[in-house]
Amino acid sequence: MDAAKTVVVVLGDGVGGLVAASALRRRLPCTHRVVLVDRKREHLYAPSLPWLMVGLRKAVSIQQPLARLQRKGLQVRLGEVEKIDPEARRVAVSGEILDADYLVCRARRRVGRGSRAGSARGGA
Ligand SMILES: Cc1cc2nc3c(=O)[nH]c(=O)nc-3n(C[C@H](O)[C@H](O)[C@H](O)COP(=O)(O)OP(=O)(O)OC[C@H]3O[C@@H](n4cnc5c(N)ncnc54)[C@H](O)[C@@H]3O)c2cc1C
Repeated sequence: MDAAKTVVVVLGDGVGGLVAASALRRRLPCTHRVVLVDRKREHLYAPSLPWLMVGLRKAVSIQQPLARLQRKGLQVRLGEVEKIDPEARRVAVSGEILDADYLVCRARRRVGRGSRAGSARGGA
């Protein structure tokens, strides 16, 4: 990671993570990196699933590749969040360690042993 930049890592590309990451990207200066982490390549807008079920939406209209977010200045890291260390603001993602200055956790599910995604809080 570039040591000169402040790094914000957002875990989880559900509605919560996506909104948080996008809002942070808009508000923060370009000296901050905003990294969005999820295991899935596509963002699925879950509230539209009932419309898909009854044929009022097509699958392509309720999902989009995460890679598209890079156009908006967000960095995307695909992988499994295996461990979160909130005190050190450090996350293990598919065997790689990500160090953050700020950590936003919206992954919600259990992550690794004894480390719960929903309990992680960050901030300097
Ligand atoms: C039919 C339907 C209608 C809904 N309507 C509404 C509504 O009207 N209003 C509302 O507020 N909400 C609604 N929701 C819920 C909404 O879609 C979100 O699921 C909810 O707000 C929670 O969002 P979230 O971002 O916190 O978590 P999630 O949506 O659960 O996203 C978590 C993300 O974290 C990722 N993740 C989890 N664990 C890991 C891991 N270990 N490693 C890597 N990635 C991981 C997942 O892949 C996922 O992308 C609805 C949901 C459904 C299905």
